[in-house]
Amino acid sequence: MAKKIPLVAEEMTPENKCSFCKNSKCCTYFTQQIDTPRKKSEFVHMLWQISHRDVQFYKDEDGWFLLVNSPCVHLLEGGGCGIYDSRPKICRDYDNDYCEYDASAEEGFELFFDSYDALLKYCKKRFKKWDGKKAKKGKQGKGKKGSKKKEGKKSKG
Ligand code: SF4
Ligand code: SF4
Repeated sequence: MAKKIPLVAEEMTPENKCSFCKNSKCCTYFTQQIDTPRKKSEFVHMLWQISHRDVQFYKDEDGWFLLVNSPCVHLLEGGGCGIYDSRPKICRDYDNDYCEYDASAEEGFELFFDSYDALLKYCKKRFKKWDGKKAKKGKQGKGKKGSKKKEGKKSKG
């Protein structure tokens, strides 16, 4: 995620690639890996989470992830980083070799839930008795600001 705006047209290299990427997709979300959900109560909890704006879930070859589509507050208009010299390690370490400038991460998803309805539909298909006995409502995580830690970028499939 190196970001300097080029003044003149230049050939793309790994070093200057990010300067060509005007929407900086990798700076507009974060992900948090979660344990593979198996129980009905775990899916009920996920339904509560996905009821919040800009929250999604996906599963790829690395497992299940919570995805929060919320741009970094340091992302500048035009795609620059407002704290470039002191940006977090995860941003420094992010490899732009084959990133979302090249292909959408969604291409590698085995499952993708972009709404409450989409996840509910999956739950009803997965659990034959979904509409039967109510699963215990999960409330853990509510108000725990520490759980909103930046975890990583969407993995590629
Ligand atoms: S999506 Fe790729 S090219 Fe664009 S800013 Fe991120 S690492 Fe750089
Ligand atoms: S700190 Fe800078 S490089 Fe890191 S996500 Fe935010 S805008 Fe992008």
